[in-house]
Amino acid sequence: MSGPHVVIAGGGLAAVRTAQALRDLGHRGRVTLVSEESDEPYDRPPLSKECLLGTRGADDIRLAAPDEYARQDIRLVLGRAVAGLNLCTRTLTLTDGGEIGYDRLVVATGARPRRLPSLPDSGRVHYLRTAADSRRLAGALTAGARVAVIGAGFIGLEVACAARLRGCRVTVVEAAAQPMAPIIGAEPAAWLRRRHSERGLEFRCGTTVDESEERPDALVLFLGDGTVVETDVVVVGVGIVRDTAWLADAGLETHHGLVCDETGRTSAADVFGAGDVVCRHTAGQCRPIGHWTAASDSAAKAAAALLGVPPTDLGEDGFFWSDQADLRLQFAGAASPTATATVVSGDFDSGRFVVHYTDGDRLTGVFAANAPRDFLRGRLALRSAPRQVRT
Ligand SMILES: Cc1cc2nc3c(=O)[nH]c(=O)nc-3n(C[C@H](O)[C@H](O)[C@H](O)COP(=O)(O)OP(=O)(O)OC[C@H]3O[C@@H](n4cnc5c(N)ncnc54)[C@H](O)[C@@H]3O)c2cc1C
Repeated sequence: MSGPHVVIAGGGLAAVRTAQALRDLGHRGRVTLVSEESDEPYDRPPLSKECLLGTRGADDIRLAAPDEYARQDIRLVLGRAVAGLNLCTRTLTLTDGGEIGYDRLVVATGARPRRLPSLPDSGRVHYLRTAADSRRLAGALTAGARVAVIGAGFIGLEVACAARLRGCRVTVVEAAAQPMAPIIGAEPAAWLRRRHSERGLEFRCGTTVDESEERPDALVLFLGDGTVVETDVVVVGVGIVRDTAWLADAGLETHHGLVCDETGRTSAADVFGAGDVVCRHTAGQCRPIGHWTAASDSAAKAAAALLGVPPTDLGEDGFFWSDQADLRLQFAGAASPTATATVVSGDFDSGRFVVHYTDGDRLTGVFAANAPRDFLRGRLALRSAPRQVRT
């Protein structure tokens, strides 16, 4: 074996893609992946979709075939969390007291769901990030159950739709005026609300959960607008937080995440970042990663930077998708609050359309519902337009 020993902290998409990219780029040194989860690395998008509906299980969501790690000589250290880092001795400390030395480190520890302090620590309250979370939630989504989803972002709406399809009575509580409004803008968001309401989701928008009370027969939510929701199951989808205290303690620069440049370099020469844990700082902007494609692309870039290979331009454009019952939503670019949203093909009534966001003459974003081909055309136009990237 020649070449540096690369240790990857984390065991999700970015960690696995980094390891695979290192091998694809010809790295022959040791590669060790350390994950706090005991499960072999798996993909997260199905956790809020097919896994809740029972159409995909653990074996269907692996990020690599079971024999690939051995074939590629990638050592998996599972069920052990990294708790500390010494940049001088190039050593990671694990929560069980063990230590692992590295020549190069890639931090790919992802993120955790943001907790809501107004909710109790109760078996009725669910957060969704891991396969174990998804299994526990699937077990709670029984027909007739009263489910409250807090947060109408893409994960909250996917869970709400899955719960509805399983026969639950679903109320969605959202602080913004409409679901996903901060991302897709007011008019498309108003359409999305109408569409989901027609299929049985009840919305309480423009309000938040101020307080809650656990009773024997229900968890009761008291909302800021004075209304009350009685629930059997509460699912919280109000964003993510990045656990970077151990990185800051080691002396790495952090700010809403592990600060990296476009290629995944951190403030320390031998340490790189990939995936959701990263916040990119370029041209005075702080741009966190929080979606699948950006996480995967950032891993390929970090592997290239680590090996000193020029990065491939992956044309990052902040793309994400979301499957909500019979809707495939796709988005790329950005829709600033002042952008003009224009339907350029299809229409809201048919549930099949593409919206372009423009700022003056400049195309800044594309959003589509059930129109993947037209979305792709818009996405290509976005790539050739002068743009502000959002990931
Ligand atoms: C339910 C759900 C649905 C999603 N759906 C979509 C979608 O439809 N479209 C889309 O574009 N994106 C989607 N995403 C986002 C996408 O899955 C993430 O952007 C992607 O998983 C990020 O990968 P990552 O490897 O950076 O982080 P993660 O997938 O979070 O992986 C991080 C790993 O590191 C481990 N870890 C954390 N801390 C430590 C530590 N201290 N020591 C060791 N290991 C540690 C974690 O346990 C985890 O295994 C979804 C995310 C979720 C949670």
